[in-house]
Amino acid sequence: MNRQLDGKAAVVTGSTSGVGKEIASQLAAAGCDVVINGFGESLAIEAFKLGLEAAHGVRVVFHGADLTQPSEVAEMMVFAADTVGEPDILVNNAGIQHVSPIETFPVEMWDRILALNLSAAFHTIRLAMPAMRRRKWGRIINIASVHGLVASPFKAAYISAKHGLIGLTKAVALEAAKDGITCNAICPGFVHTPLMEGQIDDQARATGIPRERIIEEVILAKHVKKEFVKAEHIAAWVTMLCTDAGSSTTGASLAMDAGWTAV
Ligand code: NAD
Repeated sequence: MNRQLDGKAAVVTGSTSGVGKEIASQLAAAGCDVVINGFGESLAIEAFKLGLEAAHGVRVVFHGADLTQPSEVAEMMVFAADTVGEPDILVNNAGIQHVSPIETFPVEMWDRILALNLSAAFHTIRLAMPAMRRRKWGRIINIASVHGLVASPFKAAYISAKHGLIGLTKAVALEAAKDGITCNAICPGFVHTPLMEGQIDDQARATGIPRERIIEEVILAKHVKKEFVKAEHIAAWVTMLCTDAGSSTTGASLAMDAGWTAV
């Protein structure tokens, strides 16, 4: 087993499901103590937490902060410091999507998506940075999206937030570089997670096209490689960025998009 991150403390937001769950798993496997966060069924979260602890001999704790609320973000970061220690590694992964034409885009969904997909990362970063600066070491990884690089119709809030998250990544990289802290964004194409399931249903509703055709003709249409991106590949990049091999990379928006943006 490769324990390159032994003794590090990590916070992974939105890690009760999908991409974040895989990131938390791989960081634990690399030796990190991990704070997991997100919503979900408490027994399933407890089983996930205990499973990681048993498999990897690390400490895993859960905080159910609603990250759209800045006060709850702050509570989670205090909880992290009190349990696993002030984070060496911060992965801003929690995100939601809503698909709608802009004229009818619900205002409260715009606010919620901006709060979670962008502002929550601002809050976790500003709170994690002082300890990282003191230690002269830190890794901040923002899970953006190919939709931080290019747009598609009906996703105004998500695309705005993810483009903003890439801007935040660059700004933080510049401010943090002198203290051994890197900040990067990973920009995946479509990954088959619960979030994606919701999008398939929403797109089918918005366009009247059946689900199977949405997957083939709408979603994978943008992937040059006609497969979903794998959550475990994203997690492997996150882990690599946290090792010494990642230390030369900062301020980058790393596309893992099955060729989407090569066209
Ligand atoms: P998911 O729905 O499977 O998981 C989202 C996680 O965020 C869950 O743990 C959920 O409980 C948590 N969450 C939701 N609202 C929250 C809130 N208010 N406070 C705290 N946690 C909250 O989604 P996923 O597909 O794994 O997406 C993870 C990240 O990857 C997101 O930022 C998403 O934008 C990004 N992404 C996903 C895809 C894809 O195709 N699935 C593609 C590119 C980027």
